[in-house]
Amino acid sequence: MDKSVIRFSHCGRNIYCFSIPERCPQCGVGLGGRRLEEAPVSIPSPFSNGHKALCSFLIAPTEGHFVREFDGGSDLHTGITDTNVVYNYTKTGVRRDEYGWERCISIPLVQPDMYNLINQWDRYLDKFSSAHMWDTQWQFDEEKHNCYNFTLTFINCVLATEHKRALSKDEFTNAFVLPRIKRASKYSVLCREIAENHF
Ligand SMILES: [Zn+2]
Repeated sequence: MDKSVIRFSHCGRNIYCFSIPERCPQCGVGLGGRRLEEAPVSIPSPFSNGHKALCSFLIAPTEGHFVREFDGGSDLHTGITDTNVVYNYTKTGVRRDEYGWERCISIPLVQPDMYNLINQWDRYLDKFSSAHMWDTQWQFDEEKHNCYNFTLTFINCVLATEHKRALSKDEFTNAFVLPRIKRASKYSVLCREIAENHF
């Protein structure tokens, strides 16, 4: 689904392509047999399949395909995965999605060796999602009671069970969310440029 981006150096520039071309697209010099100034590097995609991400925080556009929609202007939606579905809070209450998060930003919330937490995770998340405060009769609020509050409140509940301090919305956003959104946004722009101009 995602073409991987390759970066190489030639004629003093960093050049980004989906594959190494026969000629440098900037200066037109053939690359065959010539050594590139440094080994080409593949740039990993910031997107992954959220349904395969265990115990993670996910960010995806509200609708549509991420690479097109993710331009800094589209609304973003967040969720938390258990071992097989994505829990997310919407105007109709908590949803348990089995598909639809195939291409998103995924941030793991547990270390692989946190066995106790991983074992309890599904139960925690299910119990948390069933709480009265996420009922549909509570008004979903764009500012104060939305998907982001749902995910951050859950993360803070998990931190509390681990005897760790809660994160404020700003701390969480600045430390974990914004850097990844910026990277995803740059990557999307890069892919669009390459698709249009070949490099
Ligand atoms: Zn060149």
